[in-house]
Amino acid sequence: MAEKLALVGIGKIARDQHIPAISSNSDWALEATVSRNASVDGVENFETLDGMLEARPDITTVSLAIPPQPRFEYAAKALKAGRHVMLEKPPGQSLAECFALEAMAEEQGVTLFATWHSRYADCVPDLKSWLADRTIKRLKITWKEDVRRWHPGQEWIWEPGGMGVFDPGINALSILTEILPYSVHLSEAALEFPDNRATPIAANMTFVDPMGADMSAEFDWRHEGLQTWNIEVETDQGRAHLSLGGEKLEIDGELVKHGSNNEYANLYARMAELVKTGRSDMDLSPLIHVCDAFSLGRRVAAEPFHF
Ligand code: NAP
Repeated sequence: MAEKLALVGIGKIARDQHIPAISSNSDWALEATVSRNASVDGVENFETLDGMLEARPDITTVSLAIPPQPRFEYAAKALKAGRHVMLEKPPGQSLAECFALEAMAEEQGVTLFATWHSRYADCVPDLKSWLADRTIKRLKITWKEDVRRWHPGQEWIWEPGGMGVFDPGINALSILTEILPYSVHLSEAALEFPDNRATPIAANMTFVDPMGADMSAEFDWRHEGLQTWNIEVETDQGRAHLSLGGEKLEIDGELVKHGSNNEYANLYARMAELVKTGRSDMDLSPLIHVCDAFSLGRRVAAEPFHF
């Protein structure tokens, strides 16, 4: 029988990805939404999470498609009410919030899933297995997009906890931490903050690879040309080029795969498996790199940003 699910926050990602992915998976039944401003045809809506939790004890799972700042409070309420919880990325606005949620989920004996949708892009598993028996010499992440195009009017990304350019950049870091056969750590970073904003618009990061590879990342939100979400890897046995955020893979200039966007379908399939098997999945490694960038990063002034 399908697990009954409530989706919280009916905004951009809920409409673009969550609702279609839930509707096409027979393991899930969208029984309720929690939204202060919107609703989904044919689905009961509650204005508050408290109201939903009280009225619908039969709903076993809560999926949070809200910005990171209010997420801890919502997740904590749902976990304390004994519900399984699925967290949009980033799983919290700080590491300590995530550790606290992990402890609550364990205490309640429910599933907690920190989703990293980019890890579920079609070509990420292919690149991971290609890299498994190669030595990396150089890896370069280039994540350059136009913030006005992808985040029109979203003020929360510019507020503390919103992470600025790391909101998309953490997707690249979620792929990096998935494909590498070992851990790397950040050694230095430069973060460009617009004068009128609390979060960065661009970032450059350098990593220490214990195997000696040259590893770096460049994130920029001021990019109006070809939108670029690339990871290039040079190894002892060829070069890989992952592009379109993980949807396309070329090896030594030859196309290996150009997949389609199944990221959220794969996320809901994974959540169903976690709930069935009584497990959680809270890998925080992408968020650790972001927190390290805020800790180690040199602050550089940039032009004020206006939508
Ligand atoms: P959004 O459209 O700006 O906001 C989503 C919804 O969250 C809003 O419509 C609102 O829902 C609710 N919300 C906003 N502020 C809130 C607050 N202070 N308290 C409670 N609820 C609040 O954002 P989004 O683009 O969907 O992003 C949401 C999350 O998904 C972020 O963590 C983002 O990183 C992640 N994500 C986004 C994308 C994307 O392409 N946009 C892609 C992947 C992941 P109601 O009006 O219904 O209450």
